[in-house]
Amino acid sequence: MGSRERVVLPGATLGVLGGGQLGRMEAIAARRMGYRVVVLDPEADCPASHVADEHIQADYGDEDAARRLARAVSVVTFEVENVPAATLAAIEALAPVRPGPGALEICRHRVLEKRFLAGRGFPVAPFHVVESLADLEEGLRQLGPPAILKTAEFGYDGKGQRRIQSIDEAAAAYAPFAGRAAVLEAVVPFDAELSVIGARGLDGDFRAFPLLRNAHARHILDVTRAPAGVPLGVETRARELARAIAEALELVGLVTVELFLVGDELIVNELAPRTHNSGHGTIEAASTDQFEQHLRAVCGLPLGETELLRPFAMANLLGDIWGRQEPHWARALSEPGVRLHLYGKKEPRAGRKMGHLTALAASADAAEALVRRARSLL
Ligand code: AMP
Repeated sequence: MGSRERVVLPGATLGVLGGGQLGRMEAIAARRMGYRVVVLDPEADCPASHVADEHIQADYGDEDAARRLARAVSVVTFEVENVPAATLAAIEALAPVRPGPGALEICRHRVLEKRFLAGRGFPVAPFHVVESLADLEEGLRQLGPPAILKTAEFGYDGKGQRRIQSIDEAAAAYAPFAGRAAVLEAVVPFDAELSVIGARGLDGDFRAFPLLRNAHARHILDVTRAPAGVPLGVETRARELARAIAEALELVGLVTVELFLVGDELIVNELAPRTHNSGHGTIEAASTDQFEQHLRAVCGLPLGETELLRPFAMANLLGDIWGRQEPHWARALSEPGVRLHLYGKKEPRAGRKMGHLTALAASADAAEALVRRARSLL
């Protein structure tokens, strides 16, 4: 099949595995461009179900449901990484999956991801693969404490991670990891955390969004701002890294590369073959937002322009800000230049991403001050 035949034009139906906030914003972008959307997610009232044309409520391991999704759509993409390989294979037999299962397989497993990156010469923190307590002790001897132990699978927002301060802690630290593959990493003394989101089209074209600067709180992304305020050389190298990684993964769609900046040096922390929390501000601030860019890529359409129209800052809204009453939305929105996004989640739990605020201003500093003030008014 030539690439022309594989183009999925507006009017066709997009399938999305996973119906959280990323799936919801993907569905909004798709519907804006005239696509129909079918989402598969195990949760009855998931965020994407409110905007999709159809919601197949099923577990990711349900291959019959996956086949039903594949038959109903022209192309399938995903917002979750922990989809069983058998489900992807069932879908692939009936509809294209983009990015392909190969990229997903690597990015969902820290050991495969680290080996992929290191093997191709991409800069990563020194690491040691851990499959036993003896491996952990050997790793701590080689890398030297402090070091961070991370599960290979199912880890996100700092879950499945533990910082180890001394070799005496090894046995106690290892207990929850026993029986699972893990990676021990040297602690990187970073000056900043950055991310770069790149898109690779069906024809191999590549575009990256401007570099994003991220601040975390309790291991969860808290505030993102752009421009990142780094030297031009760093920005250029980050974009080139994203391009080289996207090409090496042969992916079609978005790839997010999470980076540590140490001095002028960039170190890759993690990859995600999808849209990313740090890119939400592109909805207001870039000429094409990350969700539309992903849609364009997986549908085989030309990629959009990625330049930043205005500096922005984005602040996550976690369940923690819901007290006994609903937050004061009107107060935050009285700040000029502030936009509210809520994901339609009913239950505000601590640490749960419920929505975000985006502020546009004349500089990233001003946008960050504005978005933090708006959030504090909630
Ligand atoms: P991750 O789940 O790998 O993205 O890690 C979550 C957060 O933990 C990162 O955003 C960093 O703030 C911190 N972190 C992870 N790995 C390291 C490392 N090797 N050195 C220092 N901080 C780290």
